[in-house]
This record gives sequence, C-alpha cells and structure tokens, in this order.
Amino acid sequence: MSLNNKATLFLVATPIGNLSEVSSRTLEVLNSVSVIACEDTRNTLKLLSHFDIHTKMITYHNFNEKDSTKGIISLLEKGEDVALVSDAGYPLISDPGYILVNEVIEKGFNITTISGPNAGINALVASGLETAHYLFYGFLNAKASQAKKELEELKNFPYTLIFYEAPHRIEKTLKLALDVLGDRKACLARELTKLHEEYHRGKLSELCELRDLKGEMVLIIEGYKEEDKEVDPEDLFDEIDELIDKGMKTKEAVKIISEKNGISKNTLYNAYLKKVD
Ligand code: SAM
Repeated sequence: MSLNNKATLFLVATPIGNLSEVSSRTLEVLNSVSVIACEDTRNTLKLLSHFDIHTKMITYHNFNEKDSTKGIISLLEKGEDVALVSDAGYPLISDPGYILVNEVIEKGFNITTISGPNAGINALVASGLETAHYLFYGFLNAKASQAKKELEELKNFPYTLIFYEAPHRIEKTLKLALDVLGDRKACLARELTKLHEEYHRGKLSELCELRDLKGEMVLIIEGYKEEDKEVDPEDLFDEIDELIDKGMKTKEAVKIISEKNGISKNTLYNAYLKKVD
C-alpha cells in the first residue's frame, strides 16, 4: 500500500453519527496500523469497540499538536504506520492535523487518505443550493465583531457558503448573516446521519425564527447574486415613511423594509435617522 518503502500516515475519515457508514477499508486500516492518533481516546474507543478493534491509541489534539507531531514522526521513523482520525468526519477539516501533515510531507513519509463522511458535503448536497462551486468556510470566529468582518469579506463571493456552527451560537449567527449578507436562501442541516436528522430550508429571515436548535449543525448559504447588489438606503425611505404613516414605529418599519430588500437593518436605520435629522 505504501508509495515508497517508508512508513505511511493514513488520514482516516470516520462517521459523523451513524457508525454503519464505516467502510471495510477504514476498518482494515484501523486494524493494521501500529497506532491510531485521535483527538479524544474516549470517543475513538467507542468506534473501535463497536468494531472490535484493539489498536493502540495516542492523543493528537489542538493543545498538544507540536509535541504529538514529534512523537508520531518518531513512530514513522521506526517504520510504524500511523492512522490519524478526528472525533468525526475528516481530520484537518475544522479539526487538528495540519501541522502533522506538513511535517510528514517534509520528512518524506507516505501520506494517504481513507475516504468517508464530511458534515459540510452531506449538508451541501441536500441543501437544494448550487453545488457546482462552493466555499467551505468552517467555523466563523466566536467573537461577533470578528464574525461580522468575516461575513463582510464573503458578502460578494458568488458561490454557495458552508459554515459549521455550535448550537449555542446558531441563533446569533443566523441574525448576523441576515444582517450582513441580506435575506438569502439557506439551509440549516442538523444531526446528519443520526436519528433526528433534519433540514430547515428557507430564507435566512425564516431560519431566524427557529428556536431551541440543538445538536450538531451545518449552515449552508446561497452565494452572492447580481440581484443582491447594493441597495441605496435612500431609495427605501418612501417605503418606510408609508409604513410609519400607517402607524408603525420607525424601528419596526425599518426592520420590515430591510428584510424585504435584503439590506442591513442597521445601515438602513442609521441612514433613515440622518435623513430625519
Ligand atoms: N471533521 C469534521 C468533518 O469533516 O465534517 C468536522 C468537525 S468540527 C470540529 C464539528 C462540526 O462539524 C460541528 O460543530 C458541526 O458544525 C459539524 N458536524 C459534525 N457532525 C455533524 C452532524 N452529524 N450533523 C451536522 N453537523 C455536523
């Protein structure tokens, strides 16, 4: 299986929920390597026990990446093959492994991949959004101000966007995406391959109405379209005035008009206040 006579690092994708998605090649490799480097031995042990695999495990995670890389290199130098896995899906995809892979390439050992599931791709293909071109972004920054900057950079990107998100941040992220990107089509894919798998498809404003979202989730958002081009806030003042004349509060009127026209609520509100001054 090796490309040269040196040892091999196997980058092995593992299930993102449903254990039946393990391939026979994955099991073969996890059985045959000398060591499995994993993020959390408790999680990987569940997988190994399910398939009666008894290969030795070592930890390789964000906090010991440099030290653990040295350890793995010395195993490869002794001719021992190593498999790198993460808790779910592909190692290196929003998971550790980048430092190790570069060091292994540098030292001239073999690297090969064992295919398997990836949450972003599963979500993308079922989202109903364009798949010909897409950008996998992974997690936005946990700080809202940073996340906003990141979304602003993506605002004019014409291809479908894939984000990973944690359940405790999803409501804020959806609101921020609506605010920065406008009211685009989106899909929130939850608990993929698991018992409670579900897809929420709709406009970002509709997804913002969802509450108590739990479990693991991927957010897919439509890319920039020509029709999304910047709306001049001034062009919308008449529509706001009409709603205010009907008795609506300014903030509410701005919210409705901003969502209808895919413009940031804050941008429109600030522009409108300046006009009133
Ligand atoms: N390496 C993984 C991959 O290849 O998909 C991703 C790991 S990342 C640390 C974990 C994130 O992946 C979760 O917060 C969630 O956004 C997404 N994810 C993982 N499993 C998922 C699942 N079963 N359903 C939906 N999203 C999932």
